[in-house]
Amino acid sequence: MPIHLLTAEVAGKIAAGEVVERPASVAKELIENCIDAGASQIRVDIREGGRRLIRVTDNGCGIPSGEVPLAFARHATSKLDDVGDLDRIATLGFRGEALASIAAVSEVTLLTRPLDQAAGLLVKVDGGQVVRHGAHGCPVGTMVTVEHLFRRIPAREKFLRQPETETGHIYTVVTHYALAYPEIQFGLTADGRTTFQSPGNGQIRDVLLAVHDLETVEQLLEIGPSPAPGIRVAGYVGIPALHRANRGYIALFVNRRWVQDRSLAHAVVQAYHALLPVGRFPVAFLFLTIDPADVDVNVHPTKREVRFRDGQRVFGAVQKAVRAAVAAHSPVQGLGYPSRAWPGPGWNGEPASEPAFPGTMPPTQAAMELYRNADEGDNLQPLGPVRLPLLRVVGQVGQTYIVAEGPQGLYLIDQHAAHERVLYEQMAAAHRERAITSQALLEPLVLELDPLLVGIMAQHLKTLNQLGFAIEPFGGTAYLVRAVPPILGTTDLRAAVVDILELLRVGSDPIALGAEKRLIAAICKRSAVKAGMVLAPEEMQKLVRQLELCETPHTCPHGRPTLLHFSVEELEKGFARR
Ligand code: ADP
Ligand code: MG
Repeated sequence: MPIHLLTAEVAGKIAAGEVVERPASVAKELIENCIDAGASQIRVDIREGGRRLIRVTDNGCGIPSGEVPLAFARHATSKLDDVGDLDRIATLGFRGEALASIAAVSEVTLLTRPLDQAAGLLVKVDGGQVVRHGAHGCPVGTMVTVEHLFRRIPAREKFLRQPETETGHIYTVVTHYALAYPEIQFGLTADGRTTFQSPGNGQIRDVLLAVHDLETVEQLLEIGPSPAPGIRVAGYVGIPALHRANRGYIALFVNRRWVQDRSLAHAVVQAYHALLPVGRFPVAFLFLTIDPADVDVNVHPTKREVRFRDGQRVFGAVQKAVRAAVAAHSPVQGLGYPSRAWPGPGWNGEPASEPAFPGTMPPTQAAMELYRNADEGDNLQPLGPVRLPLLRVVGQVGQTYIVAEGPQGLYLIDQHAAHERVLYEQMAAAHRERAITSQALLEPLVLELDPLLVGIMAQHLKTLNQLGFAIEPFGGTAYLVRAVPPILGTTDLRAAVVDILELLRVGSDPIALGAEKRLIAAICKRSAVKAGMVLAPEEMQKLVRQLELCETPHTCPHGRPTLLHFSVEELEKGFARR
């Protein structure tokens, strides 16, 4: 085929593909237009996941009748004039592409009325052609209805997912804009059902409550005033006990634009270093305010990516702000209250001026220390591990939990989970240092395995043998065990090995550890003291001491909590002392 210019229609559809990927992209562009129009109420109605219909209604400034035809033209905008404006973009839109792109791949009906016009104007565009045009009564504002998205573009249509999935994407878009603009009242209905409503009272927290359950919101910490000049970081981050399986709960906004930025998301994750179970991610809602001249939003037609003039500085500011909020929080899993020490004289009966535990600091001071240290030198250093304070064992309940007290309250420790954590860190360290020991059996053990376990054994044999086992195939479904890691003990080894293989069966872990770590975790789980075992006071104290030394004392290797903390405040509240 000789080189030729594409028809306007084909070119338009190609360009539209960059802006309109799925129904949620349409919702996003239309919502941005409402915000730019100064609306205080934005309503989104969808049918069949947005494929059948997406309607976005606002009470903003409207479009003067004479300008309506231009609104659908590509590169037609009221928000940008010359190239210099690109450096100081204060609106969400500026490319003048959205309405043109949406109209190229759907049927669009626009109904709009500015304040100074008595009647509105209705325009319907189908396949890029105006099919209706005329005066129409309507309130001040704009309503854009998009129907039959991608009907004429089978290539795109077949990529659309189930209506529920597309509805989910639209929900995500609406809720994120509601967070970025808490002063605007947002509503979303899907197939006639109200699925989201924000109060529009300016409080981000109230929007969070409309999106998430109370329990989640109570576990969010507010970010304090940020120290970095020129970059303001505000918002909420979860306490370390609030974690999710992926990064999808890290929401980033730059100058009130919801953006995707791997590097900034990484800065948030880094701020939680060693505080979260392996493979888990924090929850964060971060709002960055930065001089528009220092950020380029014109990176991609969807405007969801940004480029910073000084990315390192922004990265550092985010990491620092998040770290400060997290570090100022009680280092132990608490229930969202700031921690303070027992009231009155030292909780041990000593004068209050003496630290209750030599060598430990109250958490806020410890946090400040961490923060200060982090301030010096490299911004990108991960946060140091947050350890437990020294604890005094009080007793055991239910032959399962150890009761202990510390400077900031009462602690209930799950003896099995805590021991698992202790053994895991010890064994992982020994493995790192290639110092794994092995205990030879006086008499090798012949194991007959069922076919399922044979498969697991074969898959993990090499790693097992690096972790203190000496196991070899013994013909058929049999294996010969010559040595085991010493922590396993020597009683009931047959059951122990079978248990470990069972634990390695995929899907039995709530979090995804690598193969080697899963094996270590399985060995430690089998070796740890069980619930229901009576422990002597010295045994409990020793276990608690070892837990205090752990780098990640708050969770077992499988991500479950090792302890619950009841702060002094919670106890006082519970007993109506304040
Ligand atoms: P952009 O937002 O980049 O300017 P769009 O194609 O999204 O481009 O919109 C084109 C123009 O139409 C806008 O610049 C604006 O003037 C007008 N417009 C679109 N939607 C609305 C709305 N909801 N309220 C008022 N004006 C609107
Ligand atoms: Mg726009």
